[in-house]
Amino acid sequence: MIRLDDIVEKITPYMTSKDIEEVKKAYAYSAKVHAGQKRYSGEPYMIHPMEVTSILADIKLDKESIITGLLHDTIEDTLATDKDIKSLFGKDVFNLVNGVTKIGQIKISSKFERQAENFRKLILATGKDIRVIIVKLADRLHNARTISHLPEHKKVNFARETMDLYAPLADRLGIYWIRTELEDISFKILKPHEFAEIEYAFSNKKSDWEIYSSEIQGLLNEQLNKYNIEASIQSRFKNFYGIYKKMLSKDLDFNNVFDIKAFRVITEKESDCYAALGAVHSTWKPIPGRFKDYIALPKSNGYQSLHTNVIGPFGDKVEVQIRTNEMHEIAQFGVAAHWKYKLSNHKNKDSLVHVPDSILKIFDTQTLNDPKEFIDAVKDELITNFVYTFTPEGDLKELPIGSSVIDFAYSIHSDIGNSCFGGRVNDAIVPISYKLKSGDMVEIITKSEQYPKRDWLKHVVTSKAKTKIRSAVKNSLVSDSIKIGKNILFQKLLSYGINIEKKENINKLKDFINLKNIESLDNLYIKFSLSQLSIVEILSYFGIDVKSKSKVHRSTRVIDSSNAIVVGGNDNVMVRFAKCCSPIYGDEIIGYITIGKGISIHRISCNQILEIDPARKIEAKWDKSFASKSSTKLKVSCYDKPGILSEVSNIIAKHDSNIIKINAKQISSLKSSIYLELLVRDADHLNDIVESLSSLGDVNEVERLKNMNLEQIELNL
Ligand code: MN
Repeated sequence: MIRLDDIVEKITPYMTSKDIEEVKKAYAYSAKVHAGQKRYSGEPYMIHPMEVTSILADIKLDKESIITGLLHDTIEDTLATDKDIKSLFGKDVFNLVNGVTKIGQIKISSKFERQAENFRKLILATGKDIRVIIVKLADRLHNARTISHLPEHKKVNFARETMDLYAPLADRLGIYWIRTELEDISFKILKPHEFAEIEYAFSNKKSDWEIYSSEIQGLLNEQLNKYNIEASIQSRFKNFYGIYKKMLSKDLDFNNVFDIKAFRVITEKESDCYAALGAVHSTWKPIPGRFKDYIALPKSNGYQSLHTNVIGPFGDKVEVQIRTNEMHEIAQFGVAAHWKYKLSNHKNKDSLVHVPDSILKIFDTQTLNDPKEFIDAVKDELITNFVYTFTPEGDLKELPIGSSVIDFAYSIHSDIGNSCFGGRVNDAIVPISYKLKSGDMVEIITKSEQYPKRDWLKHVVTSKAKTKIRSAVKNSLVSDSIKIGKNILFQKLLSYGINIEKKENINKLKDFINLKNIESLDNLYIKFSLSQLSIVEILSYFGIDVKSKSKVHRSTRVIDSSNAIVVGGNDNVMVRFAKCCSPIYGDEIIGYITIGKGISIHRISCNQILEIDPARKIEAKWDKSFASKSSTKLKVSCYDKPGILSEVSNIIAKHDSNIIKINAKQISSLKSSIYLELLVRDADHLNDIVESLSSLGDVNEVERLKNMNLEQIELNL
């Protein structure tokens, strides 16, 4: 059974004797108020806060956290009051104990989503002090270790919650050993059968492993000595849940989960890590593609190490991790170790005890509307890696992996994002699509005439950037709609002799919008450009009956909810088909916003579309009801032989298509070209025809023509 002396022994190396006295005082107080209470196991309750504190001492947490460990259950489970704790141990300790208590008060409800929602509120309520979470993790760990005493009906809920929230949380904070232990304990409860299978396979291998392991350690030691590298070697096992996950994801059986054979080399100096790597690689052949340098490129939670896989002395795969003592400590204790090392000279000490931005962000920004979405976000944020970048002033920006210069710009300010033109990363100029890496120092280059483009969306991963770009693109679409609508309306009316630049006409138009309850002229133009208002209606208000003169328009433009324009219908003039590529129904298409001539629709493969300003491109798709046939032109290169023309026309007739025009031209005494203009239903229909024509024995090639005036081709047969 754990004793106070054990804890004192652990904290003595890093605490003053005055601090230790305070810890002893907290122990005495806690023992007094918990006196007589029992755990589910029947043991004295005090064992629990002692064990929790012992875990915290292993991570070398500060005095306040250690005291909190001892007191963490006093407010909830004893007669101790807020006031008692505050007056005896100070406000700091009280806030921590209070935070842990609040997290602990989450009701185990039948709805898991509900719990996550409470968890969110409670994390916020803890005052965002990361020590609360670490104490809570230690508390959870000890409760998990004693899960066998928990009543049966509580076990599964406890394990589920541990697996889904606490283990990822420990991972996010970089406390690897807490994560793996929480996972294995939960795994055993949640998947008892699978756990047992792995445990059995494992126990069978254990004695083999021990012999093998000492063999390898001996060989490694010999090598390191040869190179005068001071290091200790550990063998290690992947945790059972890790093995299980690997078996699932790679569909392997137990024998093939090779990094069970894993060794760790721990050196004094960083340079020795690379020397040790050299020693390992010169002894055993490295497996290509399996080397990772997390020393040069640390993981987002601060983890550093060299990972390599080699073919060991018995022809089997062996994983070796190489790191310094300091790195090892960080790998074990995560953020807690950071306090001691990396951040000991950080200018803002307060920030050290704060929850990382990435976790706070989800707690801050996620709405409570959709708990499912929230919990997914928690998992995503906790599991996804982050890149740590800096502003030129040295401020840290934590961004999800895959973030670009644009994401960075939007993380500073929407205006910076909207006018982002490029970036300077570590003093080199980079495009806005540049993917940031940890350690990058990023300066954003802005340009006042810059504006967000739709295809920026391809380069961003943060939701802030996505939202801002979408709304900016939408706004520019609105202003385009106003321009286009106004322009076309102006020209239409002018063609009927109405000049809306004249005062009386613009006034009449204003009367019209009042009558129609349209808010403003701009809204009128938008409605007009969206085909929500027909020219006929406006003209008839101006006293012109257009029915007699009305033209038949081929197509219309509608902006649907996804902002893509929909091509089809038959009542307006906003869409034209580009002559350069003559799209037909079913082709992949894209729109180009012209000023005053509506939208011209091109095939996505059209060369001309490559040249135009991407900001004026707009997604386009076909309306399914667009049934009218379109004309398309084909060139059939064939051997010149009697009857070929009738063969070609027969095939076209068989496919239920009509020939509008047909011309032929002799190329040589043997070859000729047949030019056809056909009516087809859609791209599939056309493809069928092209395929049938190509299969004719005398046909060499069938080509779809972009723009060809058939009249210019002489009939030469
Ligand atoms: Mn507890």
